[in-house]
Amino acid sequence: MVVSITGDQALVKKINMSLALETIRVHAPVSRAQVAELTGLNKATVSNLVSDLLEQQLVTEIGPGQSSGGRKPLLLLFNRHAGHSIGIHLDVHSFSIALCDLSGQILFEKLNLRLLHSDPVQVTEQLSSVIQELIDLAPASPYGVIGIGVGAPGMVDEQGCVLFAPNLGWEQIPLRQWLQDRFTHIPVLVDNEANAGAIGEYEYGAGKHVQHLIYVSAGAGIGTGIMTRGEIFRGAMGYSGELGHMTIDVHGRKCSCGNRGCWELYASEKAILDPQKSLPFHTLYEAIQAAERDDADALHFLYQLGEYLGIGIANLVNGFNPDLIIIGNQFAHLERWIKAAVLRSVKQRALQSHQQNLNIVYAPLQQRSTLLGAANQAIRSFVGRAKVTV
Ligand SMILES: [Zn+2]
Repeated sequence: MVVSITGDQALVKKINMSLALETIRVHAPVSRAQVAELTGLNKATVSNLVSDLLEQQLVTEIGPGQSSGGRKPLLLLFNRHAGHSIGIHLDVHSFSIALCDLSGQILFEKLNLRLLHSDPVQVTEQLSSVIQELIDLAPASPYGVIGIGVGAPGMVDEQGCVLFAPNLGWEQIPLRQWLQDRFTHIPVLVDNEANAGAIGEYEYGAGKHVQHLIYVSAGAGIGTGIMTRGEIFRGAMGYSGELGHMTIDVHGRKCSCGNRGCWELYASEKAILDPQKSLPFHTLYEAIQAAERDDADALHFLYQLGEYLGIGIANLVNGFNPDLIIIGNQFAHLERWIKAAVLRSVKQRALQSHQQNLNIVYAPLQQRSTLLGAANQAIRSFVGRAKVTV
């Protein structure tokens, strides 16, 4: 994006500065000449912007780098110590939270804290007290805590309002506003947890440099984050990705969304609740523990879970033609039990042409995909706000 608006010089400079800073963040270490090349801005402009960014401690210099002849250039780094970001993965029964530097390096984290209530006011209360703990732990830095990102399990609008989260029983909960009222000086962002998971894996995990990826967040339910060329595909209203509710059995069981036979009833923890199965375990955790003892029921159940997961994935592969499917959230831990079944379903059902360059992996960030993605969204937004000193 090269801006050629005349008139408001300060605005043009602000946009160019964010562009230069984002380019340095993503491509560091880079020389000024490379920043000019990557952004399309001219060298003198980049040089001016970089002096401002150095002065504002958003960028640091190391050097010298490789020279293509002549003087060796100094290299620029995004100053990951300029501030800190907080990322939260709100799940149906628990949440995880971390404080990171601006490169996504985790300084402190608390994983799988049990939600004491599902009532949204009380959840906000519980989240706020842990957020405050992490703010208090943040080391001194030029910009302090620059943002709080939350990934929530449900449909989230552009204002960060959770419109519908059937697994939490929430409707129309202005979560971003409620948290913003608590932390008035720190920008709060709320997005769908699978979108945040896709971003986390794209920035820090299996999805680096992958053009077309889908993050399948499978646990208490299923959500998907669809990413094309580094951007989440959001649809007209921002609600895309609710593929856990695609119908895979016309006459199937009733789902909490109102439909019947939704994918997540067969390929998430909800499959355990199928009354026709009367299984000897009641949660995914118990099923895993039984599978670890080689319990035949548990092994069979997990294999079936993998088959159903693969059926939905085959539909995604046919519909979106991704390079990479990342199976994340709690299912990131199920690889050894479901891998063969998932591959078998996909191989049998997806179009041959679509399978050629397809990879299916289990989220290397494991339960941290969403919280790191949420923290990254706060970081990207901070970079977008880079101030101009005219
Ligand atoms: Zn449904």
